[in-house]
Amino acid sequence: MAVIVQKYGGTSVADVARIQNVARRVKAASDAGDQVAVVVSAMSGVTDQLVKWVREIAPHYDATEYDTVVATGEQVTVGLLALALQELGLKARSYLGWQVPVRTDAAHGKARIEGIDGGAIKALMASGVTPVIAGFQGIGPDGRVTTLGRGGSDTSAVALAAALNADRCDIYTDVDGVYTADPRIVAKARKLAKITYEEMLEMASQGAKVLQTRSVELGMKHRVPVQVLSSFNDLPGTLVVDEDVIVEQELVSGIAYNRDEAKITLIGVPDRPGIAASVFGPLADANVNVDMIVQNVSHDGRLTDMTFTVARPDLQRTMKTLDQAKNMLKFERILSDSNVAKISVIGVGMRSHAGVANTMFKALAEKGINIQVISTSEIKISVLIAEEYTELAVRALHSAYGLDND
Ligand code: ASP
Ligand code: MG
Repeated sequence: MAVIVQKYGGTSVADVARIQNVARRVKAASDAGDQVAVVVSAMSGVTDQLVKWVREIAPHYDATEYDTVVATGEQVTVGLLALALQELGLKARSYLGWQVPVRTDAAHGKARIEGIDGGAIKALMASGVTPVIAGFQGIGPDGRVTTLGRGGSDTSAVALAAALNADRCDIYTDVDGVYTADPRIVAKARKLAKITYEEMLEMASQGAKVLQTRSVELGMKHRVPVQVLSSFNDLPGTLVVDEDVIVEQELVSGIAYNRDEAKITLIGVPDRPGIAASVFGPLADANVNVDMIVQNVSHDGRLTDMTFTVARPDLQRTMKTLDQAKNMLKFERILSDSNVAKISVIGVGMRSHAGVANTMFKALAEKGINIQVISTSEIKISVLIAEEYTELAVRALHSAYGLDND
């Protein structure tokens, strides 16, 4: 007998028939002997609508009241699912965040979970009750309802699984797993049976859309195995686990891309101590997140060029900030280009293998794709290329690392 947290996303509870489908799945697991706690999102589209209403009434809304409104979507689905489960003969009971309670910090609209006391829920499950818990919400130190940021019910589910010491957290979503590359781009992409938490965090192009990043971090911290799967079929999904659980680790697990960055080059920056700090300090103050950075060694010890990337929506703010600091920075010229994409090869296997980067460079060279910037971490190699080659590059790399499904 296992303790399982099942989380169903908006598409899985989009209408009454789907809620009944979810109820049948929960019942099947409970008939098989598992103790199941269910976490649900709002019906798909509902949270968007609630946010829209808030913005219509108050463009610069009070975040506390925003939470009061947007948390209501989940109240509907927990009640309906509890009823659907009761109709199937289960003893089910709904719980809002404050009733568990799920305690959060005071950051309304993007609160972080500080603690869940799983004791009451655990006792309930042991006595044969199926708790149905509202995702996305908690209670802040001010005693008011908080929400965890969009997509937050993944985080609710993993946090609950950690609090219950559950054997697994199953996240039912609208994709049936994590693929070696975005299946919309690579027809030969394969569904991964397992992936490590670290890799999942790096798989931003599809990963971040599949699971809220914070939920993966929590899973990693508390070592909760998280399974991503579909509620519309009975196929196994992808298990997100610790590295030591994966027996045969592939060298490369996946290829990710990100079209959300822009490149900035400062030409003719004085090559002296402190220059990097004086460029990136003001950007940090302006809340700009810098990603890739390259700086060349100057030929004459006098001037150098510096290239880096920022999130595309931050480009204007970045240019303005640098322009204001021009007198201090003394660069000659500034160039920007948002026609770029970052392509990443990800795999914990590359820690212990040489030549992984070279395979990437060769594959891109063969397609005539120019690399503008390179950055690496222990488990990732990223390059910046012209955006129009995104698909070509992802496909070429998918083949080069032997990931194609044939
Ligand atoms: N309903 C919330 C949202 O749409 C939370 C979630 O679905 O995870 O963001
Ligand atoms: Mg979601």
